[in-house]
Amino acid sequence: MEPPRRLRSPPRTRALPVAAATTPSASSAGSAAGRSRAPRCCPARDIRPGAPHHYLVVPIEHMGNCKTLKKEHIPLVEKMMEAGKNILQRNNFTDLNDIRMGFHWPPFCSISHLHLHVLAPASQLGFLSRMIYRTNSYWFITAEQLIERLQTENTAS
Ligand SMILES: [Zn+2]
Repeated sequence: MEPPRRLRSPPRTRALPVAAATTPSASSAGSAAGRSRAPRCCPARDIRPGAPHHYLVVPIEHMGNCKTLKKEHIPLVEKMMEAGKNILQRNNFTDLNDIRMGFHWPPFCSISHLHLHVLAPASQLGFLSRMIYRTNSYWFITAEQLIERLQTENTAS
């Protein structure tokens, strides 16, 4: 028996580390409000690539999911976005207007660890990917939308 043939093998999805911690924090109990605290991230691999370029940015610290994030996590989200753009550029993708970055909104997420999807080019997403990473849906939120949400949520309550 032969394994089913694929039309084409998609590129491996890679994740990248966000900036390494510059300040070693020995005790980090309680809130992570420390200004100098840089997010530490580790690589992970996505399950199925949704675009020619598809990467995951994952913080090392367990962050739960994007629903549990608070305003103090905005710098972390921004760092993750920055890292996402960096990995694209390092892989020779430079049109940063044609990318999609975002998070799966619980419970539509199979991974309980916070992870940012970085897909490019956004204009070349397949049908399924357009669904899975659909902007303005109730299962996917772009990084920009998430930041906006975190900002307004805190001032509202
Ligand atoms: Zn996901």
